[in-house]
Amino acid sequence: MKILISNDDGIDSPGIKALAEAVKDLGEVFVVAPHRERSTAGHSLTLHKPLRIHDLGNNYFSTSGTPADCVYLGIREIVKGRPDLILSGINRGANLGTDLYYSGTVAAAREGALMNIRSYAFSLVDLSSTIPNSPREKLRFPMAAQWARKVIEETVNISFPAHSLLNVNIPNLESEKIKGLKVARQGFRYYKDEVTKRTDPRGREYYWIGGPYKGFEEDPLSDCHAIEESFVSIAPINIDCTHNQFYTTLRESL
Ligand code: MN
Repeated sequence: MKILISNDDGIDSPGIKALAEAVKDLGEVFVVAPHRERSTAGHSLTLHKPLRIHDLGNNYFSTSGTPADCVYLGIREIVKGRPDLILSGINRGANLGTDLYYSGTVAAAREGALMNIRSYAFSLVDLSSTIPNSPREKLRFPMAAQWARKVIEETVNISFPAHSLLNVNIPNLESEKIKGLKVARQGFRYYKDEVTKRTDPRGREYYWIGGPYKGFEEDPLSDCHAIEESFVSIAPINIDCTHNQFYTTLRESL
């Protein structure tokens, strides 16, 4: 089995090393990741400038591109032959609810799903980071990697529908405090929308966008809820974003 691993935190992140280490006996592992952090890169592809691949040895490669570029190049130039599995992560931080639209971690898995390759996105959720001024806990990447492996093993006999992926979030708890796996729906997260306007040393204005996390839409079936309840959330994600109910009303009204 050929396994392609990518992420959006960059080739040097502890999450990708822990993930590669945890699955190394499941097949031939190729790690292809951005040479610098590309978090919130979304699903962007680099079409208008050259991309470079750096062979770092031991089947580790970094590229100058985005997470989606890495999977695109990884499949066609590095693995050489279709991978059987694409794994993305383990991301430093949550990819729950609406985060999926901005996430480079999920985009790397989605790039695999577009090619109908079994794809998983893994993220480690530090619940303390949502509480203002609380001390940050150490991120337990090796623990999360063992749960990632468990998810892969428990789903091994489940066939993925065309163009789908599994988005997995793992709470940053001691392993024995995690209650187990929970299948969940994509939820909805809220952030305070903020624009900070400042002046640079040359006297020109610049802007800093993005505000703190504000909470989630309460839905007991959602991935956000599963994480709050100390479960590993597993959300099946579809590439097709069509709103079925709206589609029907629109069809009936036009
Ligand atoms: Mn990231």
